[in-house]
Amino acid sequence: MENSKVRLPLLGGCLCGAVRYSLNGAPLLVHVCHCHDCQSVSGSAYSLTVLVPTAALALTGPLESFTRTTARGREVRNAACTKCRAGLTSNDVARPDFTGLRAGTLDDASWAVPVVQTFVRSAIPWAIIPGVEQVDPKDFNYVNLSAAWRATAPIFS
Ligand SMILES: [Zn+2]
Ligand SMILES: [Zn+2]
Repeated sequence: MENSKVRLPLLGGCLCGAVRYSLNGAPLLVHVCHCHDCQSVSGSAYSLTVLVPTAALALTGPLESFTRTTARGREVRNAACTKCRAGLTSNDVARPDFTGLRAGTLDDASWAVPVVQTFVRSAIPWAIIPGVEQVDPKDFNYVNLSAAWRATAPIFS
């Protein structure tokens, strides 16, 4: 099957429209996380995250961030709109070159198909996605997973 095509830039924003963003480079990975932090932050069963190069993402509008240390000792910074409080991005503070974009904030997320799901042990049982590879958090290798995702992802141009 031929990979579909998606036009750049990809656009998105918060609930109230005060924050908008434009992604001017190809995403690297789409993944699902079932950890309890992601359940809390999203208020839903899991997070669907698009990993993007930070340099390709241009955000405008009133953002505030909240930094916390995860159970695994990583410092993670989440950014949200100061007006409507919708969360837009998360960053591993130790890896500033990459930004996690909340897929639901894209104007069109129809192309954002996850290639992997992690922290499945803390998943809400019905929310485990059939047919999507399960990876233990300690084996979550961005480089390998990104290659796997890009093999089936659309062509971004
Ligand atoms: Zn907003
Ligand atoms: Zn998570």
